[in-house]
Amino acid sequence: MSMKIYNTLSKQKEDFVPIEEGKVRMYVCGPTVYNLIHIGNARPMIVFDTVRKYMEHKGYEVNFVSNFTDVDDKIIKKAIEEGVDSSVISERYIEECKKDMAAMNVKPASTHPLATQEIGGMLDMIQTLIDKGHAYRAADGTVYFRTRSFKEYGKLSHKNLDDLQGGNRSLLVSGEDQKEDSLDFVLWKPKKDGEPYWESPWCNGRPGWHIECSVMSKKYLGEEIDIHAGGEDLVFPHHENEIAQSEAANGKTFARYWMHNAFLNIDNKKMSKSAGNFFTVRDISEKYDLQVLRFFMLSAHYRSPLNFSADLMEAAKNGYDRIVTAVSNINFLLESGKDGEMTAEEAALAKEAEGFITKFDEAMDDDFNTADAIAAIFELVKFANTNVTADNTKAFMQTIVDEIKMLSDICGLIVEKKEELLDSDIEALIQARQDARKAKDFAKADEIRGQLLDMGIILEDTREGVKWKRA
Ligand code: AMP
Ligand code: ZN
Repeated sequence: MSMKIYNTLSKQKEDFVPIEEGKVRMYVCGPTVYNLIHIGNARPMIVFDTVRKYMEHKGYEVNFVSNFTDVDDKIIKKAIEEGVDSSVISERYIEECKKDMAAMNVKPASTHPLATQEIGGMLDMIQTLIDKGHAYRAADGTVYFRTRSFKEYGKLSHKNLDDLQGGNRSLLVSGEDQKEDSLDFVLWKPKKDGEPYWESPWCNGRPGWHIECSVMSKKYLGEEIDIHAGGEDLVFPHHENEIAQSEAANGKTFARYWMHNAFLNIDNKKMSKSAGNFFTVRDISEKYDLQVLRFFMLSAHYRSPLNFSADLMEAAKNGYDRIVTAVSNINFLLESGKDGEMTAEEAALAKEAEGFITKFDEAMDDDFNTADAIAAIFELVKFANTNVTADNTKAFMQTIVDEIKMLSDICGLIVEKKEELLDSDIEALIQARQDARKAKDFAKADEIRGQLLDMGIILEDTREGVKWKRA
């Protein structure tokens, strides 16, 4: 069955047809790194990671690019406050962000480009825009995009240029009085004292925010891509401006499908750093396993606003625990299940269980309706709780538990708890190996070494003694 995606561009669900068969080129605007990410920022990470995982499950090869904005006013402000270089701030929070992503089971992107590493490409694209008459340099060295020169401006946000000019003046005029037109936006701006800057043909300065995504998307995915995504606050002006820059420079459609997640709110207000109504992912991790946060995010459709509350987190915890418990119960039963093939009755039940997988796929094919997809997992769990008993064959038990794990895995939910390996356990095994060696029982020593290797522990015999590390 084909997959449908709601496209902000057409305001409709459309069949997904990739540019290249079997491949998906996807770009997701990433965070500005000046602080720990809050759970509002985590929503697009979890949502689009799930989109990616479902597409990979369907057999697509997904080239997934997500940037870190590492040059920005807020980063510079924080660097000045701490008296350090702005790269110290951005590097610190990129590392922290990657830790949070890993804890939420968000897969690292195929590429995580950094704005500061891509300045050359930005200079090239800006020059192309100037050469084509889509951009101009003002007297102070600022380069602006000539918005009216791009006839389709407004096509993503469904805004009309004249309405923007009249109605939203204050939004667009930000004190720069050298613009030809108040709709024009910055591509390159002159440096201020103490700020990082790069040389350019126009002035020593730094890029505007929008140009970085146009350039990184082109460099890592090509001039035309399948999906461009981010939170709905990015539709205007960020994504509208990206389209204008890319399409004016390259003369090609920039992205075929535009996906936007709705906000994570608190008391029906957008969670944001500036409003101060936020919880960081780290805050949440002190109280909950971050798998619960992931479950909470996916329990709503990504285009519906989601209100964060303690009650909803508790409900998410209960929901997630239900799946984990079902998996652990079946794993326990598996230890004493019957050998041999499934009985005819079990085969019929297994067939029935496949119906839940179909339901899951139908929900995901319908613009990634994770709320319904999770409901299908629950139906499968309920089915398992009723139908998997100690009398079953291992083959049947394994089939059902594998299905629960597969569907959970697509949602990025880790539902099988691996026993945590403690340093003290590892050191006890190393000591046992040393004892075996002392007793000249080398077979046993080797066996323990192999056992540790299976657990992902690598040993190194050095003059100072045995050292170990996790693989
Ligand atoms: P920022 O660091 O503000 O550029 O945001 C990074 C990503 O998080 C963007 O895709 C934003 O749209 C998204 N985002 C920020 N706040 C929220 C929120 N409260 N709910 C959902 N998405 C958000
Ligand atoms: Zn972007």
